[in-house]
Amino acid sequence: MTLVAILSGAGVSTDSGIPDYRGPNGLWRKDPEAEKLVTYDFYMADPDIRRRSWQMRRASAAWNAEPNAAHRAVAELERSGTPVRVITQNVDGLHQLAGLPARKVLELHGTAREVVCTRCHARSAMADALARVEAGDPDPSCEVCGGILKSATVMFGERLDPMVLGQAMAIAKGCEVFVAVGTTLQVQPAASLAGIAVDHGARLIVVNAEPTPYDELAEETVREPIGTALPALLRRLAAEAGTAPGTDSGTAQGS
Ligand code: ZN
Repeated sequence: MTLVAILSGAGVSTDSGIPDYRGPNGLWRKDPEAEKLVTYDFYMADPDIRRRSWQMRRASAAWNAEPNAAHRAVAELERSGTPVRVITQNVDGLHQLAGLPARKVLELHGTAREVVCTRCHARSAMADALARVEAGDPDPSCEVCGGILKSATVMFGERLDPMVLGQAMAIAKGCEVFVAVGTTLQVQPAASLAGIAVDHGARLIVVNAEPTPYDELAEETVREPIGTALPALLRRLAAEAGTAPGTDSGTAQGS
């Protein structure tokens, strides 16, 4: 079976009402004060930054966001029996909400739906921490050790989780089709996954409104809106996989 890897960026969630925060042209990069709220050193050093950070999380558009047609199309591809792995730069959890099993989603930048203690690394639900903010605690601390809590997302100044990145590279090397969707492919190391996939023989398909640095390596570039283009593309890939079973090299991992 053909393993399809999907690298999803901010553009996949804009139809769900979630703006691009962290991309090269994202809201945070354009606003130095906002960028401080999501920069590790500022966050750890300054209780006022943390208080404002918690208020920003409270107001996040992500909590009421629903998966859109693109998220649903990816989940449908998986249900059709095509082996799928999603590598996402998004922290909104919408792929999973659309019905994609969590084990098939690698979150390169972590998840906004959990918090993590910066001292003991205990994790718990963001909803519980926000309930404490709501109840009057402006900077809730770890209930296990009293350490500073942060969103379980990768802040500016933090490294990506090497385990997650290693798994993403293995998927890029092992897939037959690599679809980069809604990402400008300008943020490393995520962008380099597209090149790694091509180096290892995958077909690269880029679905993005703007040109990307990897377009020349792509077998196909799609500029149409993601909400219609991705479902059509994934239906086509599922049909190709369904009409030509067992003709590939057999290196794909099972679903
Ligand atoms: Zn702790």
